[in-house]
Amino acid sequence: MAGFVAFTVLIALVAVERIVELLVSKRNLRWSEAHGGIEYGHSHYPFMVALHVFLLAGSLIEVWVWQRPLVPVLSWAMLALVIGSQALRWWCIITLGHRWNTLVVIVPGMPKVTSGPYRWLAHPNYVAVVIEGIALPMVGFAWVTAVVFTVLNIPLLMTRLRVENEALATLPAAINAGLSGLETVVVEPRQGAIDKACGEGLMPGALESLARIGVSPRGLPFHGIRYIAGENVAEARFSRTPGRGVRRTELHGALRQRASELGVRFVADRVDAIAHDDESIEAAGIRARYLIGADGLHSQVRSSLGLASASRGSKRYGVRQHFSVRPWTDMVEVYWLSDAELYVTPVDEDLVGVAVLGTAPLDLHAAISMVPELAGRLDGAPSASTPRGAGPLRQRVTARTAGRALLVGDAAGYVDALTGEGLRVGFAEAEAAAAAIRAGLPGRYEADWRGITRSYRWLTNALLWTASQRRLRSVVVPAARALPMAFVRIVDGLAY
Ligand SMILES: Cc1cc2nc3c(=O)[nH]c(=O)nc-3n(C[C@H](O)[C@H](O)[C@H](O)COP(=O)(O)OP(=O)(O)OC[C@H]3O[C@@H](n4cnc5c(N)ncnc54)[C@H](O)[C@@H]3O)c2cc1C
Repeated sequence: MAGFVAFTVLIALVAVERIVELLVSKRNLRWSEAHGGIEYGHSHYPFMVALHVFLLAGSLIEVWVWQRPLVPVLSWAMLALVIGSQALRWWCIITLGHRWNTLVVIVPGMPKVTSGPYRWLAHPNYVAVVIEGIALPMVGFAWVTAVVFTVLNIPLLMTRLRVENEALATLPAAINAGLSGLETVVVEPRQGAIDKACGEGLMPGALESLARIGVSPRGLPFHGIRYIAGENVAEARFSRTPGRGVRRTELHGALRQRASELGVRFVADRVDAIAHDDESIEAAGIRARYLIGADGLHSQVRSSLGLASASRGSKRYGVRQHFSVRPWTDMVEVYWLSDAELYVTPVDEDLVGVAVLGTAPLDLHAAISMVPELAGRLDGAPSASTPRGAGPLRQRVTARTAGRALLVGDAAGYVDALTGEGLRVGFAEAEAAAAAIRAGLPGRYEADWRGITRSYRWLTNALLWTASQRRLRSVVVPAARALPMAFVRIVDGLAY
């Protein structure tokens, strides 16, 4: 009887330890979030919690209900293992400090921890879990609980290791950007925080790319896309993480600061003529081994390299402006007018961006007045920026590489802003271009570009064609509403 009571006290102590762990984890989560931390693979977490509750409850029930005879030598040996596993567990917690968590949370730009037990083991915490999963129930000879926990823990640990390894794989990319040994010069004619006509909705995939290079710009989260056409409303919420509405000036500031931290040099000039041979390439008076042309829709680099191609079809443009008003939505709203689309993106606590896309002439205020609900919300709201335009949006390009030059972002070709993932695609292209240069295989980038942009090109072209047909245009929103799962899948396909 005394043995059973002692075992119950042991389980109670472990339960208290678990509660302390959860409190530490919660505190660390707040710290991680404040430092731009990103959570990976949450779906396995409830199962993990349930399994650990089972370990404690199952051990107690088995010992008390089945009155297993205690084997003192076994109990003492197992108790020693339990104490050892707890020590290892807390060594991990102390070594990781703020970065330890029961969830999988990675803070971008922070180096991988290689001290303490991490000097010898990649996942020492799980060694502790495996030992404890057997040793704790076996102190009271609750072997059924030990077996069930250990068997169920195998798929859980495999999932958890996969999620952690995938999450940790983002860290070398962030560090590589600074340590790859490539000396980088940015030639940019415009000074200060650069603004641009943009809907300013960063898709979740764009945020993931930014996190990999240690950038997390300030903004407001949005959770999906809402299409509105009169009475018809269709919503697609992102299945995983949110996107973020971010002022372009904020984005530029955050990117510029990170580039400066990594030793990137800035030259206030404009690229015009380009000369290149087998060994090097020269532009704006700088001779380099490679040139990335990321100079936007009307890329001079593209023209100088002879990669531009004439665009057919009607020309579409975009105009945007900001209004000082408290955001009323946590989605990007798209109002489908008869011949244009209006985008509303919350970008700050009291700032909303509105962009209109369509053929010329474009009048943002006239477009807003066509939607009484929107006009009402913006009525009396002071404008917080001057209108900015861009276009024609469609830009055709014959190839993305020419010798030692690679085109990235809008310079590499653009379809339309209709599906709002220009930045996500541009960031992914930038990663691929840098990787091709690091590998010394710039030609490889052409195939990478095709893969990265495939879904964007297909979906945007298809939606654009549908929107340009008068009869089909009016069915876009009702169809999205009637087929919510398909709408979610399409938006997810563009978001990540
Ligand atoms: C109305 C509108 C709404 C949009 N909404 C969204 C949205 O909500 N979400 C989204 O992800 N995307 C959106 N986009 C698309 C997005 O804005 C672009 O895809 C993105 O800005 C492209 O980035 P980039 O770096 O290629 O070009 P840019 O952002 O245009 O940057 C090009 C840079 O090159 C510099 N430059 C130009 N010429 C030269 C030269 N000769 N030499 C050196 N430097 C030069 C410019 O000064 C500029 O700083 C929208 C676009 C429009 C027009």
